[in-house]
Amino acid sequence: MVYEIFKEFRFEAAHRLLKNYSGKCTNNHGHSWLIRVHLQGNSLDDKDMLIDFQDVKVLKQWIDEHLDHATLLWEDDPMISYIRESGQRLFITKKNPTSEHIAEIIMEEAILHFQNQRIRVVCVEVNETCTTGAKIYQ
Ligand SMILES: [Zn+2]
Repeated sequence: MVYEIFKEFRFEAAHRLLKNYSGKCTNNHGHSWLIRVHLQGNSLDDKDMLIDFQDVKVLKQWIDEHLDHATLLWEDDPMISYIRESGQRLFITKKNPTSEHIAEIIMEEAILHFQNQRIRVVCVEVNETCTTGAKIYQ
């Protein structure tokens, strides 16, 4: 038997894409990001749960502290100095802050928080609008 659960999180953040990119997303703009994290396992705990949904909220705390109401910028973006000097929330990424890369970052956090011998992080889905998004699988 394979059990799978998911949990959704939302946050608000601005980003722009500069690395090797020249479309309209070079302009700083914001999204209401929707995250969906899927966890799988072959057995349940003593409460007959894969994991208590309450325990998944620790990832929401990380998202709130690092991504929510922040500007997500690629590490070579010249706007970093302005955001930093003006004291605004900033999250610097190694790659363009695309949905794909945000999914990758959240996947790494989810693995740190939830993965153990019984639970595997299957995928993280990131939607930046109601019609566009990305999914990353482990
Ligand atoms: Zn965007």
